[in-house]
Amino acid sequence: MSRRPSFPARLANGPAQPAARASTQPAARPHVPAAGHGMDSQAVRTRMVQKLGAQGVSDPRVLAAMAAVERHRFVDSALVNQAYEDTSLPIGLGQTISKPSVVARMIELLLAGSTDAKGRLGRVLEVGTGCGYQAAVLSCVAGEVYSIERLRGLHDKARENLRHFRLANVHLLFGDGMAGFAKGAPYAGIIAAAGGASIPAAWTDQLADGGRLVAPMVTATGQQALVVMEKNAGQVRQTILETVHFVPLKSGIA
Ligand code: SAH
Repeated sequence: MSRRPSFPARLANGPAQPAARASTQPAARPHVPAAGHGMDSQAVRTRMVQKLGAQGVSDPRVLAAMAAVERHRFVDSALVNQAYEDTSLPIGLGQTISKPSVVARMIELLLAGSTDAKGRLGRVLEVGTGCGYQAAVLSCVAGEVYSIERLRGLHDKARENLRHFRLANVHLLFGDGMAGFAKGAPYAGIIAAAGGASIPAAWTDQLADGGRLVAPMVTATGQQALVVMEKNAGQVRQTILETVHFVPLKSGIA
């Protein structure tokens, strides 16, 4: 079930060329769809990041990653002009790309755990690849990203979307993420983009000592909330945070 995309390395310290491109002759320009992306997408992302900062995201590693990844490349062309709004958007098969503020918040929580001397996480498991956006953001802050998706159509779409970015440290897997991905374990971080009634035991089992898990979960009130779990000396400590709205965690593949 595992599949490694064969990209060589390169990510986005921001797209290369806004100013240089602006002087290109119109006839020579590639076709770019309507506003909010393309040559001015760095400016639009910078505004998005400023808003994230105003909403309380303060980790510079997260803000830099959110500024680097071109979210418009992960949504359908009809939705491109909404790509930098703080909203979830449909990505097909009844699923959604998470809101930027939620992606940023969850990765910030993940990074509050143990990181190396450079402030990077080691291996991270993402459950629910969807369109691949969050995997790309994670690739900026983690050594290796294993991202698993249960819907073949979205797994394929993510591979397609991510090809452009050539991220050598992102490994896309097709399978049921409720079992985690034992071959990549232990993980410094586990992050889920879909929520069930409990956190699968496989996830806490596959968490490294000193590692952190961030996931939505339906709590006693019947509402979904963000849950953070930290593993230390084999003990798992759980903290329940704010209410969130994620798609359901489902078992099996389709
Ligand atoms: N991080 C994604 C968000 C996608 S929505 C992005 O950036 O686009 C959550 C995804 O979780 C959906 O694609 C859904 O199919 C997937 N999912 C739900 N249950 C799953 C499971 N058990 N294993 C793997 N993926 C699952």
